Amino acid sequence: MKRKLLILFGIMLFMIMVGSIIIKISSKNFATELTKSEDKLQVVTSFYPVYMIGLNLAEGIDNMEVKSLTDLKTGCLHDYQLTTEDMKIISAADVMIINGGGMEGFLNDIMTNYPNLTIIDASEGIEMIPSEEVHSDGETVNVPDTSKVINGDGANKAENGTELSNIGWNAHVWLDPQQYIKQVEKIANGLNDYLNTTEAADPSIADKIRSNSDTYISKITELDRSITELANTWSDDNRLGNKEAVIFHDSFAYLARRIGINVAYSIPLDSDTSLSAGEIGKIVDEVKAGDIKYLFTEEQFSDSIASQIAAETGATESIIDSAVTGDGSKDSYLTAMKKNIETLKKLVK
Ligand SMILES: [Zn+2]
Repeated sequence: MKRKLLILFGIMLFMIMVGSIIIKISSKNFATELTKSEDKLQVVTSFYPVYMIGLNLAEGIDNMEVKSLTDLKTGCLHDYQLTTEDMKIISAADVMIINGGGMEGFLNDIMTNYPNLTIIDASEGIEMIPSEEVHSDGETVNVPDTSKVINGDGANKAENGTELSNIGWNAHVWLDPQQYIKQVEKIANGLNDYLNTTEAADPSIADKIRSNSDTYISKITELDRSITELANTWSDDNRLGNKEAVIFHDSFAYLARRIGINVAYSIPLDSDTSLSAGEIGKIVDEVKAGDIKYLFTEEQFSDSIASQIAAETGATESIIDSAVTGDGSKDSYLTAMKKNIETLKKLVK
């Protein structure tokens, strides 16, 4: 009897030991998983151009994840409305990167709902081209003198302090590689600040982000050299005549300014825009009267209006890539810009 009790006691003891080991192992696994996901820096970017920067900065860093809030085919966020799915993505983020300059019209909603979220504004401190309020009804809008650059700190004030009523900012700064470099620097600095000042963050990845930033900037600088060469060719070539263009997306104003092409008119077109025959006729008259030689349009929007104007005026239509959509590969900004350079080179041959 005593022996039987001893065996029973032994079995019970064994089972308790096995049980506690199992609990220990599973709780250890659970803890490892929990720490792993907490350690990973979760970055969400608003749309394609800043997503490209995020991807390049995260290159080779296992514990940093970069997501694009919007689909890679969304394009500019001019009329974008946040979805409940977007809110879920933002709620899981440590840092959000935005283009700024008014591109993210939904920014206030994010700031209200997630007051503790770290937001990096990539365009903060970048000088922006002013642009008159854009009307989605297809109304022709004039881009004011693009040589007059104003500090784009979000305030509606010109350099001399005068109020610019009804004038917004052209937020498409990335189409000028020199401005894009400033955006890369701004984002790298913002991430470094976050990593070095947030208790739960892992500051060890800050150096890698910095070196990734240097690598990406050197690639953009190389691209920028080609833009400088192109600008020199344009300024030296007298056969080009009146160096004025009509642009069909505000983004081209930055590329045009870099090359020395004056934007005579900006007619923002998107997938929902259509112009009446009368409106097109008005533009045709203006192009003829101003002897405007160049029309810059965009592939993803309907370019039939630009083609019609080109046919009626003899101006040359060129398709420019705004780098607002792409296949998600980390070099797609560089690829799009190289293609733009080739397109603009063809005009001077
Ligand atoms: Zn746009």
